[in-house]
Amino acid sequence: MRTDASEADLTRVLEVIESQGFEPHVSRGVERTVVGVKGARERLNPDTYSGLRGVMQVVRVTAPHKLASREWKPQDSCIPVRDVQIGRGSLTFMAGPCAVEEREQLLEAARGVKAGGGQMLRGGAFKPRTSPYDFQGLGEEALKMLAEARDETGLPIVTEARSQAHVEVIERYADMIQIGARNMQNYDLLKEVGGCKTPVLLKRGISATIAELLMSAEYVLSSGNDNVVLCERGIRTFENATRFTLDVSAIPVLKEQTHLPVIIDPSHPAGRASYVPALARAGIAAGADGIIVEVHPDPSKAMCDAAQALSMETFAALVSQLKEIGAVLAKTETT
Ligand code: PEP
Ligand code: MN
Repeated sequence: MRTDASEADLTRVLEVIESQGFEPHVSRGVERTVVGVKGARERLNPDTYSGLRGVMQVVRVTAPHKLASREWKPQDSCIPVRDVQIGRGSLTFMAGPCAVEEREQLLEAARGVKAGGGQMLRGGAFKPRTSPYDFQGLGEEALKMLAEARDETGLPIVTEARSQAHVEVIERYADMIQIGARNMQNYDLLKEVGGCKTPVLLKRGISATIAELLMSAEYVLSSGNDNVVLCERGIRTFENATRFTLDVSAIPVLKEQTHLPVIIDPSHPAGRASYVPALARAGIAAGADGIIVEVHPDPSKAMCDAAQALSMETFAALVSQLKEIGAVLAKTETT
């Protein structure tokens, strides 16, 4: 729509779209409002809309990931999680333990994340573990501890929903729902979180292409949730010196193809704490909008992913370095 289009102009456009049996999708950006028209391409005639008052341009979105595409929304999206704004020129540092283990561990981690310059707290309550014999997470107890840590520090919470059954309880306690790598193509789960108001952190599957990641984001967006942040967390390659291979190339590719913010997880590809800072720096230098990193007040005691957990001191030092890299790229820190 033109910037001077009125609400009445918009309403008229929506009426015309609906009267033709198509579904409109309104996205109000800072500069302009964009109206998406969903429906069978053969039946759609762009000329129907170009003559309506307030319409600036009619564009056919060719990307299969329509709502996630840059064609659909040229400007970077900014995803609000409580008072943290992710993307659009800012850097966001999310950190916390792989799993919430007990109250003191979490509170200590949360205080360290806050003191070290982090803006969000992570912590698994429902853990996807490769072995059924490994610690599976404390469930709702962990969510209560996360909420307590947020109340004390002010850091919004991100935590993983491993199945649809977890979504409702996570929404009650947390501020952002993580979809883990193993669930990136769990379409029923994607639709479920698409029906939520809570923002979603969607991690790339270990064997998923960038195009598949974008189609998974499309599931969430098309189900009604506009607030999606993508996360590159390493893919499986022939290399086994590291746990996974961080696909740094995915960052510029995603930045070109989508308006959604992109963060990186340097912990899971590294598998070892000593490799984590380098991967984090590479990700930010490549244009990522932030990181989600595993930290622990006493890494040697972590019940989950101990080898890759950063100490609170290393985390704080890393954040200062990342801010400097961000400054070179004219990124501001999320407030
Ligand atoms: C995690 O964040 O702890 C996690 C399990 O990540 P991923 O889904 O990327 O393996
Ligand atoms: Mn982990």
